[in-house]
Amino acid sequence: MRDNNDVLIHEVGTRDGLQSIQTIFSTEGKMEWIRREAAAGVPQIQVGSFVPPKLLPQLADTAEVVRQSIAIPGLTVAALVPNLRGAENAMAAGVHQVGVVMSVSEAHNQANVRRSVQESLDEFEKIVAYRDAHPEYKDTVISGGMATAFGCTISGTVPVSDVMRIAEGLLARGADRLGVADTVGYANPRQVRDLFRELYETVGKDVPIGAHFHDTRGLGLANVSAALDAGIREFDSSLAGLGGCPYAPGASGNIVTEDLVFMLEAMGLVTGVDLDGLLEARAIMERQLNGEPVHGTYVMAGVPKGFVAASAA
Ligand SMILES: [Zn+2]
Repeated sequence: MRDNNDVLIHEVGTRDGLQSIQTIFSTEGKMEWIRREAAAGVPQIQVGSFVPPKLLPQLADTAEVVRQSIAIPGLTVAALVPNLRGAENAMAAGVHQVGVVMSVSEAHNQANVRRSVQESLDEFEKIVAYRDAHPEYKDTVISGGMATAFGCTISGTVPVSDVMRIAEGLLARGADRLGVADTVGYANPRQVRDLFRELYETVGKDVPIGAHFHDTRGLGLANVSAALDAGIREFDSSLAGLGGCPYAPGASGNIVTEDLVFMLEAMGLVTGVDLDGLLEARAIMERQLNGEPVHGTYVMAGVPKGFVAASAA
């Protein structure tokens, strides 16, 4: 995180958003978006996922996008990987932060990656070992992500004790940070506050933890507020809320980056992100869509009279 920011904004529209829509952006189109958003002060962008191109043709150029993105001064470039092979490719391309995600829900993990949670933890251990065996990758951060941490479309309720067990498993295997995701938009603010408080009690206050919320049921920013109360200072979000939910056709995707930044800045929390710049990045992104829905309210309403962004104060 840049030294003077209170909250870290991690843009994921270039991965979570693009993988959820039909339109395939050109590499140049993605780079135009990424460069503009980085110039607006967004410190970290998840630019893609190292999955087989056949599975996600939208992200087939991830290695090239990484290579161009790491040339942008000051930007932390992140990417997801499904396995060791993806991690090898990500590190070879120069990714600063490798995200490895497994589902807390056993049924969801099986359906998604055809592995048990234990097998996913074993694979995570191999990825850390690979990084540690290569001195040239010693600064690469490996993030352990927990999907469906607040509920699952297959098994419904997900026990909090499972989240704690997997969090400890990831840290024991060398995770540098944790990510906690409400993949399917089931979370409510009380649940969020309770889970993150318990997680800090379990793993300690020094572990960096990020939150990934979807706005599927309109509770995205309320969940951010609850996570802030519990001490979370890193949030994933998607410009214009790009994307959606495969389980709820028509529903919105990730929380909206520009709405998130507005809320945080209005609360006096410095993000280092310029709202006007974000809207320019949004326009660049929107031009490339083929009718896919976009979301967000800041773009329509602008700032209230007398508003001073915390980053500008
Ligand atoms: Zn997501």
